[in-house]
Amino acid sequence: MSDSLLADAGRRLDAARPEARISEEALARLSQPRSSLKVSIPVRMDNGTLKVFPGYRVRHNSTRGPAKGGIRFHPRVDMDETITLAYWMTFKTAIMDLPFGGGKGGVTVDPKTLSMAELERLSRGYVAAVADAIGPDTDIPAPDVATNELVMGWMADEYAKIHRRSVPAVITGKPLALGGIPGRSSATSDGALHVIRELGATLTGGAEEPRVAIQGFGNAGAQLAQSLADDNYRVVAVSDSSAAVHDPEGLDITALRKHKSETGSLADPPSGSELDDPEELLILEVELLVPAALEGAIHEGNADRIQARTIVEVANGPVTSAADEILDEAGVKVVPDILANAGGVTVSWYEWVQNRQGDRWTEATVRSRLRERMVNQTQQVRALSREREVPLRTAAWILALERLGEAMDATGNERTFRSGSS
Ligand code: NAD
Repeated sequence: MSDSLLADAGRRLDAARPEARISEEALARLSQPRSSLKVSIPVRMDNGTLKVFPGYRVRHNSTRGPAKGGIRFHPRVDMDETITLAYWMTFKTAIMDLPFGGGKGGVTVDPKTLSMAELERLSRGYVAAVADAIGPDTDIPAPDVATNELVMGWMADEYAKIHRRSVPAVITGKPLALGGIPGRSSATSDGALHVIRELGATLTGGAEEPRVAIQGFGNAGAQLAQSLADDNYRVVAVSDSSAAVHDPEGLDITALRKHKSETGSLADPPSGSELDDPEELLILEVELLVPAALEGAIHEGNADRIQARTIVEVANGPVTSAADEILDEAGVKVVPDILANAGGVTVSWYEWVQNRQGDRWTEATVRSRLRERMVNQTQQVRALSREREVPLRTAAWILALERLGEAMDATGNERTFRSGSS
């Protein structure tokens, strides 16, 4: 990943900055991560050899509370990507008004090449390497791309062994039996669904059975495909890293999920047919296009061919800032990632609260509290977008910036100290 990912993220802040009430010194504090740790993780492989994997943990900001953010296992992971993802988390937790800052971690690895035992050793090795940097009051990891509740379970167990006590609140997205919370695995897609429902016809133009294309058929994308299909949307295309599947009449999402869980990929699908070029999914004529895979899917080179009415960013950073300008000009709405995919971190907050209270929340409580918060924050972003006449993304960044600025200035800023009075 090049330097441009972080620079690109900074352009979103630049767009919101003239409209936001925030001091220059708060902006200066936000421009750099508070700490960035690079580690190496030696792992004994099944064939007896030793491999050393690079790992990262970044705490971007913790003014509003302990840093919060997932752990990614992917060959593209590097320090620039991890800092950028941590930076986005600072704004995501602020926009949802959670008592957290932003953090992120990852390991540069292709997890598909590891056996289950190697994956466990790598997960435990990662925690051993960053154990001093994470904790329930400092920095709380969670799942991200290619990590799941099994991995979180190993990591929580390793942390408990290192500290010789159970500390379930150190990590979220754990298996239910180890202090996880019901509804966490579908929280990101549930959150996106609440945002889509709340913005309603603004996004779909009032189409009776709005057409949807989803790039990325993993934890977030596949569940959202199912929920939208159940909600009278017509999911006409989905893709993963191996294939893109299309049926203009609507795909059988249940059959595709079963196929993916049995074979590990969407290739040779039981419903629809494979597109020759998977990238074609992005330019189909649909009401909603949902990028739910990786960063930078929609860029300067393909933005002018997008035919969707609205893009709902379920992945983090799937639309570059250059593409944003082209889409804005063409009248394509974008529901920004820091709002659209914030359901996951919101339910992670509930899990952390539950663990700290030594309580067990019911699924009904989790679902109703998630819905309430997603709807409430979406309404605030929409109101600000109308009031200041800015796109939803800029409105989301303004709201987050103002909350962060207020927290940073609460311990005084230049004006406080110059005036000498409290
Ligand atoms: P995942 O690993 O479960 O799924 C990723 C999916 O994307 C896989 O199906 C993979 O095959 C597919 N993919 C990868 N490259 C692709 C390509 N070029 N074209 C099409 N598909 C491709 O990951 P996830 O947890 O679903 O996360 C997906 C995105 O959502 C990431 O950007 C992540 O940061 C973001 N996100 C996830 C959560 C969460 O709770 N899982 C929360 C917030 C944001």
